[in-house]
Amino acid sequence: MVTSFKLSGFTCPACGAIFEARTVTSITHQGQDSDFLPHYLGENPLPFFLVQCPECDFSGYPEDYSLESRENRKVSAAQIKKILSLPICKKMPEEALKFFIAAKLYEETGRNPYHIGNLYLRGSWCCRLRENRKAEIELQQLAVKYLKIAVEKSTISNPDNLPVVTYLIGELYRRLEDRKSAREWFGAVEEVIIDPEQQWILELTQKQAELNEHFIN
Ligand SMILES: [Zn+2]
Repeated sequence: MVTSFKLSGFTCPACGAIFEARTVTSITHQGQDSDFLPHYLGENPLPFFLVQCPECDFSGYPEDYSLESRENRKVSAAQIKKILSLPICKKMPEEALKFFIAAKLYEETGRNPYHIGNLYLRGSWCCRLRENRKAEIELQQLAVKYLKIAVEKSTISNPDNLPVVTYLIGELYRRLEDRKSAREWFGAVEEVIIDPEQQWILELTQKQAELNEHFIN
């Protein structure tokens, strides 16, 4: 089994366009980077986790196209145009741009910062796969910003995820060469672990904390 897709119909919540798009039905991966970018087998599914409107460039998860979402979270094509006019948009690969637009719209519609941070993180992964380090850095910075808000405001609904997110913030700081902040967040992982099954995250933290102290990125 490798990556597989299906075609589904969508109605754009911003401009009303009706179109078909590919969505992901299954993935397989073997290993991952230290910030959890999976090493996918077969076609890279990342860009297809989001659906983009071919008319106005609205971008979101398939569920963001539901009737409920369309009624409760109004976005306009003008809002998307404004996002696209930001200078940062010119610099990133188009797969990453899908995540950036979705993240910005999540910001503007007051969504959970945890989900906003995850969208920026996935955007940074798309940049890494394209070897665009500059855009990757910008998206990692945004991912850190929102993941930190999620931890500080306790918006992570599954408490089991807290040690993982705490580690991830440390790891993103390490990748951004902010050793001091990386040290601080790595150091906080142990105290938020509640489940002995999360020992793996502590081991990963120790490994990356060591890298943070002794190696040049
Ligand atoms: Zn549209």
